[in-house]
Amino acid sequence: MKIKSAEFVMSNSDVAKCPKNRIPEYAFIGRSNVGKSSLINMLTDRKSLAKTSGRPGKTQLINHFIINDTWYLVDLPGYGYARVSKTSKKAFQKFITNYFEQRQQLVSAFVLVDIRHQPQIIDLEFMQYLGEKGIPFGIVFTKADKLKPKAIERHVDDYCQELLKTWEELPPYFITSSSKKMGQDDVLDFIEATNEE
Ligand code: GDP
Repeated sequence: MKIKSAEFVMSNSDVAKCPKNRIPEYAFIGRSNVGKSSLINMLTDRKSLAKTSGRPGKTQLINHFIINDTWYLVDLPGYGYARVSKTSKKAFQKFITNYFEQRQQLVSAFVLVDIRHQPQIIDLEFMQYLGEKGIPFGIVFTKADKLKPKAIERHVDDYCQELLKTWEELPPYFITSSSKKMGQDDVLDFIEATNEE
């Protein structure tokens, strides 16, 4: 898929206020600092569509962008930062679960994980949650430029082995680097293919 247009539509903290039309959407989520804003900018060929924020946990909003006038890219807040209080963590969870459980036009989520790290419980639990709710998702490995090809292979293999302890099937996964513009076609082609179904 070629990106012809990418525009910000709206930000809000309430799924009920998200766009009302039936345009299919794809949601990006992951631990803060995983490289989500950079990935969104890389995928859409824009320098600053998503704001890269120096302060993790600052943007607690559902951000809708319309791409090629045919699908929504949804930038969800990062999870797993240490600085927020327990109360706001709870509110955050509610807000995210409301989104996933109520947003019928969601075709697939993308859970971002830093390719350098061992599987983290918070990510595995989040994928488990999506699975239990029957929400399709893919895994986007970020920052692949930080590893050599052999190490990429090993890290992805290890991740898959971990998933296969609880999952019968592996989700689709994508190896990306925003700084090297790697994986853009894979993710966009997946979106195009699932959007046509
Ligand atoms: P977010 O908090 O998940 O939106 O993450 P950002 O996109 O703001 O990125 C967090 C940090 O990781 C920033 O310092 C980025 O420069 C860096 N980063 C993001 N993507 C990549 C990547 O593909 N390669 C490398 N080497 N660094 C990256």
